[in-house]
Amino acid sequence: MDKLISRKVRKRPGAWLLSSLVLILVGWFVYDASLPVTSAFKPTVTPPTKDKASIAGGDAETPFKIVIDAGHGGKDPGANGVSGNQEKEYTLALSRKVVELLEQEPMFEAYMTRTDDSFVGLEDRALFANEREADAFISIHGNTFTDPSVSGTESYYFNDDSLALAQTIHGELVKATGFDDRGVKKEGWKVLTHNERTAILLEVGFLTNKNEESALLNDAKQDLIAQSIVNGLKQYFNPSEG
Ligand SMILES: [Zn+2]
Repeated sequence: MDKLISRKVRKRPGAWLLSSLVLILVGWFVYDASLPVTSAFKPTVTPPTKDKASIAGGDAETPFKIVIDAGHGGKDPGANGVSGNQEKEYTLALSRKVVELLEQEPMFEAYMTRTDDSFVGLEDRALFANEREADAFISIHGNTFTDPSVSGTESYYFNDDSLALAQTIHGELVKATGFDDRGVKKEGWKVLTHNERTAILLEVGFLTNKNEESALLNDAKQDLIAQSIVNGLKQYFNPSEG
């Protein structure tokens, strides 16, 4: 049979040419026909965007990943407060309260860079957020200055994409602390510069200021401050329900 066909084909080059042409045409048609189907579905796909109003997720199935970074720890005590308390203790206490509140919100999944008095390097803290593809990284600190009269709340960002989160949380923070508003500032803190995620650093108040330190170490005040940080996060990630 094979022999017969091949002989036939050889004998009729016109037919061979015709069938090849038909094959090419059919092939082209099938290829071409597949294109409009693909492109017809394209407009319904929402491209990923950094616009906070259209960030996907935020429900129990795909919660926003929030990394809370308690400043200092272990061999690094941070600032010494007026009363002799160390910054690393206050940052851990406040961070725990923030995480407890976040865990009550189905839209969030909370992580801590440290859960006890252990030392974590600055770059490792940022790496922690990068590896988890965190939606937000919040580093919690207490400020310090040689002049004990200096006081107030400062919030920092480095990456311009993080400004909106810094502003939103700062607004809530200032209301909760009642401290002077020292503003939102851009600064190259290592935990921010090594961070590929939306990342901010909060200097909630001055531990070197007597009034602010006693407020920052007060359990009820810490609850209010923690709630204000969570309120800011809710506003940022879900502006319609803020
Ligand atoms: Zn600090």
